[in-house]
Amino acid sequence: MSKTIGVIGAGTMGVDISIDLLLHKYKVILLDINTDILEEAKTKMKNTIRYSSLLLPALKQLDINDCEKNVRYTTDITEMKECDLIIENATEDLEIKEGIYRQLNEVCDKNVCIQVNTSCCSITRIGSFVDAPDRIIGVHYMNPVYLKKTTEVIQGFYTSERTIEDTNNFLKSLGKAMVLVQDAPGFVSNRTSHLFMNEAAFVVYNGVAAPAQVDKIFRDCFGHKMGPLETADLIGLDTVVNSLNVLYESYHESKFRCCPLLQKMVDAKHLGKKTGQGFYKYK
Ligand code: NAD
Repeated sequence: MSKTIGVIGAGTMGVDISIDLLLHKYKVILLDINTDILEEAKTKMKNTIRYSSLLLPALKQLDINDCEKNVRYTTDITEMKECDLIIENATEDLEIKEGIYRQLNEVCDKNVCIQVNTSCCSITRIGSFVDAPDRIIGVHYMNPVYLKKTTEVIQGFYTSERTIEDTNNFLKSLGKAMVLVQDAPGFVSNRTSHLFMNEAAFVVYNGVAAPAQVDKIFRDCFGHKMGPLETADLIGLDTVVNSLNVLYESYHESKFRCCPLLQKMVDAKHLGKKTGQGFYKYK
């Protein structure tokens, strides 16, 4: 019988992870706070399956009906008790995450492993919200999830060897490798990449260069696949700002202070690819 994975948060990451799980024959219970968001997520999943097979031919194996047959959409967190594993991808806000983990603590068996998909939050801190922190582990999936073959895995203070091994086996079943690092806000990837993204936003804010020029320098001069501003648009500028705030509050270092331009764009709902407008326009 195929395993059932609980996916919490049906935003950018929750949708991508659900698609990857369907591709690898898992059943999914997808949770968010309201049915409108869940309907939107269902449409996004169907569109990805329809139109992204050029990027990933394996998507052709999926039928859009899989989004109905093998995914259950819910706003009721008690349904997570049926899951063999939970992947939490709610908004990058520690208070929101705390509320979720305190409820999961009441609902789920203490043996169920919970993967925290976070950009910057401390895994040890999140572990402190439950009675079995040994089963809490950070898995920082990369976006777009179904195309990325490596994840950054974070061992919290209490994360057990059994949890690391279970996580490694699960990731292998998705065709992914892991790089295991220790817990510190932002880990390796976001502690470094958010400095690039934030400073690139300051360069634009200060009128030194346009977004396309900044990104071209990263692509053509440094050989990066994407520049920092197109990456920020892909992640979602709200998530980038939330992550910078978590880094700033965690380290109390001015290098993580958020560029006012990023905050202004978020206030204007220019969130990047997900709203069709960020540093660039999307159809
Ligand atoms: P998002 O804003 O696109 O989606 C977050 C979703 O969580 C929203 O749909 C929101 O309604 C939902 N949510 C909020 N409170 C909830 C609750 N109590 N119960 C259930 N759902 C709830 O964000 P995202 O980009 O998908 O990021 C999700 C997490 O993954 C964040 O912690 C982020 O840092 C991390 N992450 C993001 C990326 C990326 O590229 N976007 C990459 C790796 C990790």
